[in-house]
Amino acid sequence: SLSATALAKEKIYVGTNAEFPPFEYLEKGEITGFDIELMNEMGKVLDAEIKVQDMAFDGLLPALQMKKVDVVIAGMTATEERKKTVAFTQPYYTASQVIIVKEGDNSINSFDDLKGKRVGVMLGFTGDTVVSEIEGVKVERFNAAYAGIMALKADKVDAVVLDSEPAKNYVKQNAGLQIAEADAVQEEYAIALRKNDRELLEKIEKALAEVKANGTYDKLLEKYFN
Ligand code: GLN
Repeated sequence: SLSATALAKEKIYVGTNAEFPPFEYLEKGEITGFDIELMNEMGKVLDAEIKVQDMAFDGLLPALQMKKVDVVIAGMTATEERKKTVAFTQPYYTASQVIIVKEGDNSINSFDDLKGKRVGVMLGFTGDTVVSEIEGVKVERFNAAYAGIMALKADKVDAVVLDSEPAKNYVKQNAGLQIAEADAVQEEYAIALRKNDRELLEKIEKALAEVKANGTYDKLLEKYFN
């Protein structure tokens, strides 16, 4: 006969940072967004229950290592630096870094133009790395994208560098901001797992390939980025 354990659905514990619309954000207190729906669809493929936890972005990989979560999906760029400590799936989204400025500010048109400016970045985001490599920039680090946007509105910084889609979102929600014409620094988002968690990595890879093949992924792209 079937035991209770055999009947219980597998649970997959997922970490995210719900301050990154449209990938992950809070709606009426619930965590939702492209990444979350993608993860839930992958859960259906695997017949597993997806349990999502919201935490600070820079706490995500430590939480993964400490086994508080088993999977991280957070618009996270698969960087060489991060690959030293975690495993990434195949990429699921190509993004870029853009510059947000006050409306009417025509002094910043490229990443080179950030020289000598006060630039807001989010601590530990790839934008932080990109901006920190430009000489002569006064880098101001914030704990969340929204804090950076507020600082820009209050003229405490001259620009904010952020991933393209969240940037578009914040510009839409906050009057008086615009995205500067800038050369996009491209990057790939992927799902992170512990390096030694081979079995789960394989399952997640398969599920990701499946949702890409069966049209679910395209439907979500259409819903969130059209
Ligand atoms: N893509 C950026 C990074 O990986 C930002 C991700 C995020 O804030 N959720 O650092």
